[in-house]
Amino acid sequence: MNLSTLSSVKKVLFSLEVFPPKKDTSVNVIYNTLLGLRGLPVDFISVTYGAGGSQTQKSKTCEIASLIRSNYHIEPVSHLTCVGATKADIAAALDALQENGVENILALRGDLTPQMQLTEDFQHAVDLIRFIKEYAPSMNLLGACYPEGHPECDTLEEDILHLKEKVDCGVGHLITQLFFDNSCFYTFLNKARQKGIEVPIEAGIMPIVNKNQIERIVSMCGSSVPHKLATIISRYSDNPAALRDAGIFYATEQIMDLLENDVDGIHLYTMNNVEVSQRISSSIETIIAAKNAIQ
Ligand code: FAD
Repeated sequence: MNLSTLSSVKKVLFSLEVFPPKKDTSVNVIYNTLLGLRGLPVDFISVTYGAGGSQTQKSKTCEIASLIRSNYHIEPVSHLTCVGATKADIAAALDALQENGVENILALRGDLTPQMQLTEDFQHAVDLIRFIKEYAPSMNLLGACYPEGHPECDTLEEDILHLKEKVDCGVGHLITQLFFDNSCFYTFLNKARQKGIEVPIEAGIMPIVNKNQIERIVSMCGSSVPHKLATIISRYSDNPAALRDAGIFYATEQIMDLLENDVDGIHLYTMNNVEVSQRISSSIETIIAAKNAIQ
């Protein structure tokens, strides 16, 4: 089912994000991950595209999205980035997705790296969105948004204006960058709604389950780390099992608060970790079902 149809019939969505293996040789890893995730009550699974500049991953995204649809009967969302791409590259990627029955695309600019720079064809995600609307008009488009503002943008207000442009061009669903402080999300949500952004906005949640993860995440996305989370990390940093449990607990509490405040959806950045995804999902599934059952 197309995602816009899904979000019109459900009050709150629950979705997962997985990434293709970084090396060709470890392709079975993702199949095992999908096997572990398949029983979870999710509305869709999204698959990243070349995150961190990996070309190997790019070529696997369509294959994995297609597998999610055909083998696991879950709606896939394929991420697609335009950094370093020409219109011909994007047209080829769209052809492959359509041939494989993938109907939903998270249209992104992609991160700039020394090896991966913008081409004349695409400067921002909105250029990609316009191109897809013309080349493959039946595709359902999602976009990314940033509760604490995109790191390259001077102010949150300016970033929201750019976000509004993406929505006006045809993005019907937004997924946020991960955040650890719900108050940042609520402030952003109010501002976005005030600017007339009315599409569903799913909250991106990443459970912190090991020490290295947090440093990498913060340097990549610039998300702020509340005192409570920082304390958990430093207190249990030498005890991996306790840190994992505390990280799952923190993320679950965050999700519960969002559900109580009528969030449109929860998007779990799984990091391909089946156990963590299962534990979080089992803590929230009856609550999400109850919210969706209320008329
Ligand atoms: P844009 O919307 O183009 O925004 C980028 C910057 O440009 C912002 O500062 C914005 O304010 C500014 N801007 C936008 N439009 C204009 C305009 N018209 N004029 C001037 N300035 C403008 N990366 C990957 O490589 N692969 C992935 O699979 C992936 N998945 C992601 C999933 C989610 C949910 C999120 C939140 C991010 C993901 N990313 C991924 C990272 C993403 O590609 C980066 O954050 C990237 O830096 C910005 O992408 P964007 O689509 O938000 O870009």
